[in-house]
Amino acid sequence: MTHPGELLKKNRLYAGKELGQNFLSNPATAQMIVDRTGIDKNTTVLEIGPGLGAITLPLARAGKKVVAIEKDRRIIPLLEGELAEEGIDNVTIINQDVLKTDLKDIAGTEKLVVVGNLPYNISSQILFKLITIRQVVTHAFLMFQKELAQRLISSAGTKDYSRLSAVVQYASKISRVADIRPNNFFPKPDVDSTVLRFDFFETQGMAEEDERLLFGVIKAAFSKRRKTLHNAMSGGELGLTKKIVGIALENAGIDSSRRAETLEVQEFITLSKAVGKVLTHK
Ligand code: SAM
Repeated sequence: MTHPGELLKKNRLYAGKELGQNFLSNPATAQMIVDRTGIDKNTTVLEIGPGLGAITLPLARAGKKVVAIEKDRRIIPLLEGELAEEGIDNVTIINQDVLKTDLKDIAGTEKLVVVGNLPYNISSQILFKLITIRQVVTHAFLMFQKELAQRLISSAGTKDYSRLSAVVQYASKISRVADIRPNNFFPKPDVDSTVLRFDFFETQGMAEEDERLLFGVIKAAFSKRRKTLHNAMSGGELGLTKKIVGIALENAGIDSSRRAETLEVQEFITLSKAVGKVLTHK
């Protein structure tokens, strides 16, 4: 691969901050990430944000095919050039915003492995989106800012446990793949990065609307972190009264003076089922 700084300069382009463009500049690091995915010639890969191809090249060599979604139209000819130079012809580039792309449509009848060094400003949104289409994703390898990765893997009862941790841990088993230092990127970011692996779970018998309620309950519970569940969950988007919250907490066997960050994922599921029941019988 050509060094991203050199490639951009030659084409009179620059890395866009608003698109989170910190390109991997160390091919050995990109290769290490792809090696750890275990992708083989039976795997169809969806890559989010291929950029100048640092990960795309080793992915294409290892996998059956790669579908790569890139928002920045300016850099696509450069990516095509990098692929052509290596004689790679199993990559389809889609010039779109991943948040506006129908990923189920891309999967078709196949199951996907998703890989991405994500633009840091929308990485949580991308993860939420993947959770909603996880029936077509076997697993995902995603790079985040280290602090966000830390929040994602934090357990209940710790200071980093958040709304995002609870939702993501409901939907997947998360493991740490590698920490990547800033000197592996161009331009160099200010923070360290971490690659996480997500093995997505089935829906655990929850219909789509049950999951929507669960995610709403988690959001409401974390909306006022320092308040008790009883106070935090009333009002807000779900429009729950204090009385409904009180009954649901009691039926779920959860002490109403607890705070959101102390609830295990399984307790959120029990609570959201109790909220659903009170709402249908009110
Ligand atoms: N994968 C490349 C690498 O590791 O060198 C680039 C990673 S860079 C952190 C993020 C990439 O995502 C950029 O190429 C950027 O243009 C692209 N991107 C940003 N927002 C996007 C969006 N909404 N949809 C698709 N791609 C996006």
